[in-house]
Amino acid sequence: MTTPPFDPVSDADIAIVSAQLGRPARDVVGISARCVCGGPTVVSTSPRLSDGTPFPTFYYLCHPGATAAVSELEANHVMAEFTQQLEDDEQLREAYRSAHVAYLADRESMGNVPEIDGVSAGGMPTRVKCLHALVAHSLAAGPGVNPIGDRALERASWSPEVCTCTFDEVTEES
Ligand SMILES: [Zn+2]
Repeated sequence: MTTPPFDPVSDADIAIVSAQLGRPARDVVGISARCVCGGPTVVSTSPRLSDGTPFPTFYYLCHPGATAAVSELEANHVMAEFTQQLEDDEQLREAYRSAHVAYLADRESMGNVPEIDGVSAGGMPTRVKCLHALVAHSLAAGPGVNPIGDRALERASWSPEVCTCTFDEVTEES
């Protein structure tokens, strides 16, 4: 887990993230979470892209194994379950709101972008709309910051502790 300010991003990191995403990774400010092997799992992007576009999604899940596992959770209606838990549990709602505030603070440490002021990701602070974004936040911030992301990660069939990375193609190309 890594929160801003980030260590410098290496060319090797950018090459791997680009391979993971299937497109060139641009405006990357940090690798905010890594697999146990060191491979990137969450990438942080500048809140304003170099072409001027505001970019609210500060923590993006880039690891194919992780994104597949989280997609599986979404397909199994886990979002509806978490939405219900939020409705039933006031403490959980409060913690989720705090996660939203923490997310914005992390992003603003890399620059203030008025167009996306107060806009975080994944449905925060009151809804559950994208588990990928919430899991990415949990991986970057560590346990105890984003309660819904933490719950999703616990349920996922992927873990940053068990390496499933395949970097062979990247190494061959470079
Ligand atoms: Zn790995």
